[in-house]
Amino acid sequence: MAAPTIGVDVGGTKLLTVVLDDGGAVVATTRHPTPRGVQPLLDGIAAAITEIATSSGLDADVRVGVGVAGLVDRRGVLRHGPNQPGIRELDVRSGLAERLGERIVVDNDANCALRVELELGAAQGASDVVLATLGTGIGGAVAVGGRIVRGANGMAGEPGHTMVDPNGPPCVCGLRGCWERYASGAGLARMARDAAEVGNLDLVVERVGGDPAAIRGEDVVEVARQGDGQAQAVLDGFAWWTAVGVANLAAVLDPEVVLLGGGLIDAADVWLDEARRQLPNVLVAAGHRTLPRLEAAHHGSGAAALGAAFLARDPT
Ligand SMILES: [Zn+2]
Repeated sequence: MAAPTIGVDVGGTKLLTVVLDDGGAVVATTRHPTPRGVQPLLDGIAAAITEIATSSGLDADVRVGVGVAGLVDRRGVLRHGPNQPGIRELDVRSGLAERLGERIVVDNDANCALRVELELGAAQGASDVVLATLGTGIGGAVAVGGRIVRGANGMAGEPGHTMVDPNGPPCVCGLRGCWERYASGAGLARMARDAAEVGNLDLVVERVGGDPAAIRGEDVVEVARQGDGQAQAVLDGFAWWTAVGVANLAAVLDPEVVLLGGGLIDAADVWLDEARRQLPNVLVAAGHRTLPRLEAAHHGSGAAALGAAFLARDPT
């Protein structure tokens, strides 16, 4: 039996905090809006940890794992967080240790989420796994030999910002044509708006009141589910871009499974089979290798907080 731990997921909009009991079950959960600004953010995370520890009757020295969206180095410094406006080079681990003591470990949120899939999710028993969470952007994590790959500095596993078109649209990270400009919710919405601007997607435009600029990914998904061919064509394009990114990962890592999570996986019925069908068309030597399986991640939006609690148990 392990001691209870706390896990925190610091997202762009919300702080999700959980308590993992000594048997490995989640026994408490809280949600708070993510505070804006450096000191309010650190104060807010520390307050959420103290609150849930107190209400759960935990000892003052309970270990805490924190998952943060963005590039987090091995010392627990958030070096670059595209989803946390104005925050760069923030030493999250030290800032929390000053407030709560030396019982904090910090990692990237997707690394935490992959930890859960390896422990008790869709990657159980697999050793070489890639996770890509297709949400507003793309988060990612890589496991080789059953261990999370952190790289020389802790920054490995960011497939969303691999460049797939140097002349492509600007990315929130400052580069152009990153994979997440295509195979994410924002990417799907952008491709749909582009299609609408040239006169396609009549039913989707109608659904949003006539203004193509108002189209969101969900609108395309809903209209495609009603059998509209134009909306489905946009989703087929989304599926192709997803396959391209997966193929790039497979060319480097040869994983046995690529787990796809994030909000877009809730719409897997209108694109995942097409992505599977396209993968051999964009992966080198597809006829002479075992292709990675494309599977939905089992754990949804709670995975990073739960994985952070696992991280606190075993911070290796
Ligand atoms: Zn980028």
